Amino acid sequence: MNENDIPAVTDTRCGYIAIVGRPNVGKSTLLNHLLRQKVSITSRKPQTTRHRILGIHTQDGNQYVFVDTPGLHRERKKPLNRIMNETVIKTIKDVDLILMVVDKLAWTDEDELVLAAVSRANAPVLLLINKIDLIPDKPRLLPHMELLAGKADFAEIIPLSALKDDNFDRLFSILEKYLPPGPFLFPPEQVTDRSSRFVAAEMIREKITRQLGDELPYETNVEIEKYATEGQLLVIHGLILVDKPGQKQIIIGKDGERLKLIGSEARKDMEKMFQSKVLLKLWVKVRSGWADDERALQSLGYTSD
Ligand code: GDP
Ligand code: MG
Repeated sequence: MNENDIPAVTDTRCGYIAIVGRPNVGKSTLLNHLLRQKVSITSRKPQTTRHRILGIHTQDGNQYVFVDTPGLHRERKKPLNRIMNETVIKTIKDVDLILMVVDKLAWTDEDELVLAAVSRANAPVLLLINKIDLIPDKPRLLPHMELLAGKADFAEIIPLSALKDDNFDRLFSILEKYLPPGPFLFPPEQVTDRSSRFVAAEMIREKITRQLGDELPYETNVEIEKYATEGQLLVIHGLILVDKPGQKQIIIGKDGERLKLIGSEARKDMEKMFQSKVLLKLWVKVRSGWADDERALQSLGYTSD
């Protein structure tokens, strides 16, 4: 019997990878760039979903299933440390690998909270020091890495620039080592378990949060009323729902400047994600009591988790 007679075994690997970190460290940027060669998005939702999935990357017999940190800015009323802990713990429960992202040479109390949460998980933790393109004084990186290495038992510490690096092969080959052997959980061409509409709404919501920060101590919701290809253009209409007229004015801003900025930032993200020119129109509407409206909640996608 020679080796050709041995029956083929499944030699694929597939694992869940959580991306955690305080806001603004570059988690979304990293994910977008890791997934950027993929364009197809489907709304199929497999029963095997254990987490809120953000992105799937399949290459060379490996399937990387990335999981985001849900609701970080959705629960503003709670103290930050509780939010951090609850959301991070929920996310990292039975993942195979954790990517903890930090920003340049910073190490803050919020990073400490994230670390405390990830240290309680069983999965190995890779520490990604992001935005190294913004570190003018490169010799400071190594001592900083040594400092962070002393804080926890990180499996690896990897400096990178999610925004500027144009090759993530090395990162994928590191991640590959942590994927357990097993069959794919998703079809290889699938990039997310969320619909394009949902992703578009999330992008708008993220920009609102980023633009308004603490000026907006309440939740905002976004409904995609139109999502259609017209010629070379992807036409997207987003309806921003708020509770009170005053909130509407805050989002629109002076002479509509704020809404314009929210729209142009969201459009840039969409064009990257959907690989198409996007025409985005936004409206703001006051709708009291939407949170109690079961049907509205369903259309916003909140009941599917
Ligand atoms: P998240 O809140 O952790 O998802 O952070 P984002 O991915 O939204 O990034 C926050 C900001 O940092 C955005 O303005 C990004 O463009 C920027 N950013 C992310 N990664 C890098 C990087 O590697 N280099 C630079 N210069 N900026 C980055
Ligand atoms: Mg993000």
